[in-house]
Amino acid sequence: MKLKVLASYLDSEVPLSFQESYDNSGLQIGIADTEITSALITLDVTEGVIDEAIKEKCNIVVSHHPLIFGGVKNISDATQVGRTIYKCIKHDIAVYSAHTNLDIFKNGVSRKMAEKLGLKDIKVLSPLENRLMKLVTYIPVSHLDKVRNAVFEAGAGVIGNYDKCGFVTDGTGSFRGNESANPYAGNKGEMHHENESRFETIMFSYLKEKVIGALLSSHPYEEVAYDLYELENKYYGSGLGCTGEFSEPLGEEELLKQIASVFKAKGLRFSKLTGNKIKKVALCGGSGVSLLPVAIASGADVFITADIKYHNFFDADNKILLVDAGHFETEKYSSEILKDLIKKKFPKFAVRFSETNTNPINYL
Ligand SMILES: [Zn+2]
Repeated sequence: MKLKVLASYLDSEVPLSFQESYDNSGLQIGIADTEITSALITLDVTEGVIDEAIKEKCNIVVSHHPLIFGGVKNISDATQVGRTIYKCIKHDIAVYSAHTNLDIFKNGVSRKMAEKLGLKDIKVLSPLENRLMKLVTYIPVSHLDKVRNAVFEAGAGVIGNYDKCGFVTDGTGSFRGNESANPYAGNKGEMHHENESRFETIMFSYLKEKVIGALLSSHPYEEVAYDLYELENKYYGSGLGCTGEFSEPLGEEELLKQIASVFKAKGLRFSKLTGNKIKKVALCGGSGVSLLPVAIASGADVFITADIKYHNFFDADNKILLVDAGHFETEKYSSEILKDLIKKKFPKFAVRFSETNTNPINYL
């Protein structure tokens, strides 16, 4: 298939607009019309991974961590990133990354961690905020179903496990077209009253263009009246981190052994043991320690994340067991998410996991 087909699928499935402002997710390297034949999935894009892609004849590398993240000042052999970019271009290998949007995605990195630990009742730890909009529009009663369906088809009206959510009230609209108008009903120059339904629904802000496009193309009026409101509602279906529960509480030492085994973590670091049994778990793959107050407020007995600094461990303050299981270790299962996403849409497309160990950290 063409590179642009896979890239635009991933862009919309793991919405690019979910990414944090500092991030650089999406297509990193590649020409949209290039034919791609097989993908190599990895956490990090290193020279070693590109060597593996060349050897395995994979012409796209899909990663969680973007290859191009900070400002790239030159593409030369002076830096690891420069050498890797150079090698990709020289061997016609595309690179696509889904980073913080995959963290926030409903089936993202932290949910995968929770599943690997065998947790039940998994919920988002820090739900998305300020990403929702309300649409209100006025539709002649005869066209309500047509317009409403078009708006729902474009992705509006989803709340948690429900779709096609909306509200309708009936009333009377009025309009008068001038000499240049071509009114749907009534005559030019005369005020007309029409039985209309006021239809309102909710949507992600990133769907605005698509939903308004569907509204305008399905609505019979020459000029469509609509209002858009930014909402402060949280969206509980997606966000950073997760909570979940063990069916049977376990001791702290047993939990630490389980974390080490599930994530193959060789160097667990953790705060003072609290002496409590562990039932509720909060976790966030990668650098998630900024969520420690949210994890404590959630009532979790333990918070598992990575990149925890010395002083952060004091902040656990005997209220929670704080565990650093390693950045690579907590995020490596992101490869499974990326593979499943690609296979769901393109079951015949060849996808393989990289066998190159990209963890830059070693343990004694
Ligand atoms: Zn990461």
